Amino acid sequence: MATTRDYYEVLGVDRGASEAELKKAYRKLALKFHPDRNQGDEGAAERFKEVSEAYEVLSDADKRRIYDQYGHDGLRGQGFGGTSAGHARDIFESFFGGGDFGDIFSSFFGGGGGGTARQRATRGSHLRVNVSITLKEAFTGTSRAITLRRNEACTTCEGSGARPGTSATRCTTCGGRGQVQRSQGFFMVQTACPACHGTGETISDPCETCHGQGRVQRSAEIHVNIPKGVDTGQQLRLSGEGESGTRGGPSGDLFVVVHVEEHEIFKRDGDHLLCEVPITFGQAALGAELDIPTLTGLNRLKIPAGTQSGKVFRVRGQGMPSLHGYGPGDLHVHVQIETPKKLTARQKELIKEFDAIDDVGHTDRKSFFDKVKELFE
Ligand SMILES: [Zn+2]
Ligand SMILES: [Zn+2]
Repeated sequence: MATTRDYYEVLGVDRGASEAELKKAYRKLALKFHPDRNQGDEGAAERFKEVSEAYEVLSDADKRRIYDQYGHDGLRGQGFGGTSAGHARDIFESFFGGGDFGDIFSSFFGGGGGGTARQRATRGSHLRVNVSITLKEAFTGTSRAITLRRNEACTTCEGSGARPGTSATRCTTCGGRGQVQRSQGFFMVQTACPACHGTGETISDPCETCHGQGRVQRSAEIHVNIPKGVDTGQQLRLSGEGESGTRGGPSGDLFVVVHVEEHEIFKRDGDHLLCEVPITFGQAALGAELDIPTLTGLNRLKIPAGTQSGKVFRVRGQGMPSLHGYGPGDLHVHVQIETPKKLTARQKELIKEFDAIDDVGHTDRKSFFDKVKELFE
């Protein structure tokens, strides 16, 4: 669940906080609430997620601008669904440049970062794919089969990396702890065990399929349901469809980023659709019934006599469906009077005759030139 607390409050900074201030606040709180330092403490885990989410939003200029202007709802509207526990760790890792958290914690707090035999289960990477759909598909909702290559748990060894019938043995260098202590100047520093790379285990008889990795690259076909009302830039998160984790760690997620193609007739404005319809001077002057297009077919639209160019008619409920479960948007029909670019002799004659008749209908024109006259009298 995404937090509903104010992000500035979560980080304890004021609304004008600079990038450096945000970084400082995040660094302090993320280290304090990191789950590795607060094992089994649900409250700390929640705070860690919340702090990560606040930092993720406020450190991103675009997200911060949307949040400042529209709050949490604005971000939801952009498809931002909060920060998961796994993603919170990603943010942390990239902030501290990856590496060994034992190191980070021991250097900040003088040790006490872990120390128990820790299986180095890591979550698999998140993956991202782009999907292009038509406006019509965004209108109805659609689905896609996506083929991608990803690391999956090896089925031969069930992810252990050891040949079936054998198993990994405890690393003798670190005694299975995954970490070794060494002195660095005045300090004792914990680092990942160089023999087992922090896994705490040695595989003496590796699985032939995955060469001891526990994972293999496979091509996977994934079925994605794209909900109606989706717009360009929104992303769908398919939990657990990213790469497999190592040593029983959870899989990453797959993010499907949607792009809605431009339409020949309709422009989109949120849930509303805009459509420009050229009409003749005669239709505008006399009134007419037009067949206007919608995404489901033609619709009759009555325009009254004396319609001006640029007038917008709103057709209720003929826009896009709402992704957030509100009612559908409207169709805005912009009528534009098209002045003929070519005239026959007969048409010219009729127009001249029309213009010569004393004019009572062009009220805007009359009042404009009345004002001009006053101005120069
Ligand atoms: Zn294997
Ligand atoms: Zn080791």
